[in-house]
Amino acid sequence: MSQSALTVYVLGSGTSHGVPMIACDCAVCTSADPRDKRTRPSVLIRRGDARLLVDTSPELRLQCLANDVRRVDAVLFTHHHIDHLAGLDDIRRFNWMQQAELPCFGQSATLERLRAMFAYVFEDEPDYPSAKPRLTLHAIDGPFEAAGVPVTPIPLLHGKLPVLGFRVGGFAYCTDVSEIPAASWPLLEGLDVLILDALRHRPHPTHFNLEQAVDHARKIGARQTFFTHIAHELGHEETNRSLPAGMALAYDGQVIEVEGRRANCE
Ligand SMILES: [Zn+2]
Ligand SMILES: [Zn+2]
Ligand SMILES: [Zn+2]
Repeated sequence: MSQSALTVYVLGSGTSHGVPMIACDCAVCTSADPRDKRTRPSVLIRRGDARLLVDTSPELRLQCLANDVRRVDAVLFTHHHIDHLAGLDDIRRFNWMQQAELPCFGQSATLERLRAMFAYVFEDEPDYPSAKPRLTLHAIDGPFEAAGVPVTPIPLLHGKLPVLGFRVGGFAYCTDVSEIPAASWPLLEGLDVLILDALRHRPHPTHFNLEQAVDHARKIGARQTFFTHIAHELGHEETNRSLPAGMALAYDGQVIEVEGRRANCE
């Protein structure tokens, strides 16, 4: 087995407002540390030549430029909240470069909302034949393959909203979560790397705070856990000093090498 079966690019590690927030003068929003600059949450998972984009954040174009993303083979949607969707139109560039429609995967409820929120994408407007993203929507309710890569959806609760995390090999991405249902725990066993929601110190109705995230990360027991969807209350350096070994805040531009699970699992 290769040393790094997957590479994960953290395109965005921030909460829905981004960090810095508009017109905030707090220590984190005015920090000179580049790891305190957080765009909205998204990752790109690369396995071999296949590149899976998770969510299309409002900063997708800037994230692709910053991380030199030149190809996307599929998009996986965690849920329909706008901080995970607003960059959908930037998919046009990949349609053009790859001369192909882009397959998109999500729960049927997510895809339904996506169709409503981006109605123009799915309407016939002959005046603009090439100016819209070209997508094929695939509803998922269990393990599936995207661009030849096996993906396991992980049902999570984001407040009362059912959302998905995604597992690929030894990696799982669980953003926007406040509860992990009992049936999903086995899907998180034997992880090399976990990326998990950790909004801030104070509790929140639809996100883990840092304390809950650390607690869940301990129980899940990945070799390495990184936290994402981070608000401006958590400074990178200071927060990392307080975290247990094997846990750290993610940051925009971070590149994470993920070991394959045992050879017979890949
Ligand atoms: Zn601030
Ligand atoms: Zn959300
Ligand atoms: Zn979110």
